[in-house]
Amino acid sequence: MNNNPAYCGLSQEQLDAHWMPFTANRQFKQDPRLIKSAQGRYYTDAFGRKIFDGLSGLWTCGAGHSRDKITEAISKQAKELDYAPAFQFGHTKSFELAHRITEFMPANLNRVFFTGSGSESVETALKIARGYWRKKGMASKTRFVGRAKGYHGVNWGGISVGGIGANRAIYGQGIDAIHLPHTMTAENQFSQGMPEHGAHLADELEQMIAVNDAANIAAVIVEPMAGSAGVIPPPVGYLKRLREICTKHNILLIFDEVITAFGRVGANTGAEEFDVIPDIMTTAKQITNGVIPMGAVISKQEIYDTFMDTSGPDYMLELPHGYTYSAHPIACAAGLATLELLEEEQLIARSKALAPTFEQKLHSLQGSSHITDIRNYGLAGGLTLAAKDGQPALRPYEVAMKCWQKGFYVRYGGDTIQLGLPFSTEDSEVDSLINAIGEALSETE
Ligand code: PLP
Repeated sequence: MNNNPAYCGLSQEQLDAHWMPFTANRQFKQDPRLIKSAQGRYYTDAFGRKIFDGLSGLWTCGAGHSRDKITEAISKQAKELDYAPAFQFGHTKSFELAHRITEFMPANLNRVFFTGSGSESVETALKIARGYWRKKGMASKTRFVGRAKGYHGVNWGGISVGGIGANRAIYGQGIDAIHLPHTMTAENQFSQGMPEHGAHLADELEQMIAVNDAANIAAVIVEPMAGSAGVIPPPVGYLKRLREICTKHNILLIFDEVITAFGRVGANTGAEEFDVIPDIMTTAKQITNGVIPMGAVISKQEIYDTFMDTSGPDYMLELPHGYTYSAHPIACAAGLATLELLEEEQLIARSKALAPTFEQKLHSLQGSSHITDIRNYGLAGGLTLAAKDGQPALRPYEVAMKCWQKGFYVRYGGDTIQLGLPFSTEDSEVDSLINAIGEALSETE
């Protein structure tokens, strides 16, 4: 047994047994950062230290941790109906939740397919897109257009349309995908909110269509605001331009809103906030406040109707796709409770109200050591740090570890630090968080 209290009584063998996801396992297991409990906007670590949750879990827990309404709903559901077969049978909560979700969606995004995660939502959306064109007699439309710096989860479709090289490098060939340029340009550095310049980058899609032919392209998939690459809000007019080009060429537009749906950008969805409606939207994370895995793909009715309108007998499946845990009863109970909580406590409005303060305080870090860019929208923020000794990922790690020691959890990824505040964050907590990051930056070589 290792005597370090951070091990929480774990042996080295136990630590070694768990191959951790998206984690530097060798480093973590030398100095584990273990979290024991969570309440509201704070974690408690293995040392009993209170730690502010500066990323709402992994962009999941905007309503705060261990909320009674959600935990009670889960517990009640587990006692009443712990599992129901997802295929050919149902339970009432999935229909209630599906309908509830459509109330958070722009008009006409009104058919909900449940999954178990963001990655599964993305795979589902890509399959629906291809299947849709096949049903319409256009089977050659199979290629996808993603975007550089895009993150769409970790499954084959997701890493193929995704644009973070490190997530693709060791896996070889995925599905057929080409990529738009990202919009993080030098002229937009330190933009507050949506950058002014860059709508023209959407016109690259016209070039890609000219080369690839719309007859071969099923869909364009983008995050309306990229999250995992370090928070990249869309330039003014950019998403509208993408929408126009997709409509003109008969290509579906998919918004991956796994981070942005249900409050992160100060509105129900990114689509609503940026006033552009996709044909399909992928969601997860905030649906259940992160408490239980769940994702949902929301499609416009015409896509659903196209699948339903088959000439075969009605006992035949229209979409041969689904997961054992699609619409899991406990996840549905958590989802219903979460959406109710968002409304009861007006958490999305609170997230919108705090956004200007967060923006101003975040940008006060401009001029701090190592900072080369700052971006924000709603309660999401990203800082880019200059590379140290040619290793871009090193400084963000060092800064995040210093923040952790000071009692603040922030995400580090690539050359960025990322923030996603809980929706009920107080002004004074924004101050403390930004001060801690400022100190961590100045203490880092
Ligand atoms: N899509 C986006 C935009 C995401 O941000 C994420 C996760 O961060 C995913 C997909 C994948 O979600 P999951 O990790 O639940 O599979």
